[in-house]
This record gives sequence, C-alpha cells and structure tokens, in this order.
Amino acid sequence: MPTYNFVCETCGSKFEKFMRFSESLLTVECPNHHTQVRRVFSAPAVVFKGKGFYVTDSRKPVNEASSS
Ligand SMILES: [Zn+2]
Repeated sequence: MPTYNFVCETCGSKFEKFMRFSESLLTVECPNHHTQVRRVFSAPAVVFKGKGFYVTDSRKPVNEASSS
C-alpha cells in the first residue's frame, strides 16, 4: 500500500499516511485534526542514489516560438 506525504495547511505539520486508492484527500486529516491538508511529493527522507536519476525543478522551458 502506498504511503503519501502530506503537509497541513493550518498548522504546518508534516505527516504521512497510508491511502487506499478509493480514499480521497477529503478523508485525510493532520495529527491535530485539521482537514486542510495538501499532498506533497518531495519526501525529505528519500534519496535517489546513482543510476543518473534525479529530480530537479530547474527544467528549462522549451521555447519554440518560430513564427513563419
Ligand atoms: Zn494541522
């Protein structure tokens, strides 16, 4: 079962939770019982080593504005 990372928009708590595919974000609440939570994909504990695979935000946008 996949574990997803969440951050609470109300108190800023970061937590992780098992989620079934049938569950929606509306059922997720933070440890302090707030329901304004947001799913995050960057897990600080997860490090990808080797194989040339890494995640970066600095992808350049492709500008092909060649007008004829
Ligand atoms: Zn909270």
